Amino acid sequence: MQNQKQKKADLHLHSVYSDGTLSPTDVIKVSHSAGLSVVSIVDHDNIQGLEESEKAAENFNIEVIPGVELSSTLNQKEVHILGYFIDRKNSKLNDYLAFFRDERRKRAERIVKKLNSLNIPLKLETVLRRTIMGSIGRPHVAYALLENGFIDNYDEAFDKYIGLNGPAYEEKIHFSPKDAVDLISQAGGLSFLAHPNKTLNENELVHLIDIGIDGIEVMHPSHSHERVNYFKGITSEYFLLESGGSDFHGGRKRDEEILGRYTVDLQAVENMKRRLFK
Ligand code: AMP
Ligand code: FE
Ligand code: FE
Ligand code: ZN
Repeated sequence: MQNQKQKKADLHLHSVYSDGTLSPTDVIKVSHSAGLSVVSIVDHDNIQGLEESEKAAENFNIEVIPGVELSSTLNQKEVHILGYFIDRKNSKLNDYLAFFRDERRKRAERIVKKLNSLNIPLKLETVLRRTIMGSIGRPHVAYALLENGFIDNYDEAFDKYIGLNGPAYEEKIHFSPKDAVDLISQAGGLSFLAHPNKTLNENELVHLIDIGIDGIEVMHPSHSHERVNYFKGITSEYFLLESGGSDFHGGRKRDEEILGRYTVDLQAVENMKRRLFK
């Protein structure tokens, strides 16, 4: 039996409802095998997998926190905002996500057009076929390119074509971090800045604290030990909450190793609940 101290939470998992490769049920299964006690599936701009994950969790004695990872932009940089404890039936949240899904589909069309003009005859249907139900993203384009032999490996898609500033890159619609924080808050949730290491400078970090994020994702595979400590310092200085997780997508080789390695302890989850429900 695990004691309380050993119990671990991974609050950053993806499923087929965005760019993950596993169904929510299978995400819960592998989380259970990895010894996790609390998880959150935070699909990109999508909450359609949450109901299934809650049902699966009942069979595996795992607690699921309803979550989402919203895309926003700040100074042309991509900023991901995690929402935890959101009400998945909240109508404003659902309306926004439906709108955003449509916009993502239009963006996929534009990306394919750009690729076509670069003499890559990728068909939109090939990309759409890969998105069973979730938000269409660049990873789906990358896999479609790979499947059709237009590139030799997944990363080549981003390096050569669809990465930021690549010749087939297309922006998503503008949604500010403040919009994301407000949307999460009106749906009853807490907002966390996801993997801040990736792009943000200190001014931008302070801006996000000013607009009211509740916490920072301290633990993430992209953070060195040093950066984890740095972000811990920021959270304690500004009285922010801490979250963390593996950013598991499944399918890719490195994903098999990360589950159970990037976690926060259950106290972090308790702290969130205390802030929400006290
Ligand atoms: P999207 O939301 O459609 O812009 O896609 C963003 C996703 O694409 C991220 O969550 C990553 O999974 C993936 N991605 C973005 N940039 C890269 C990159 N340079 N190399 C590999 N994957 C990337
Ligand atoms: Fe992703
Ligand atoms: Fe992210
Ligand atoms: Zn993620």
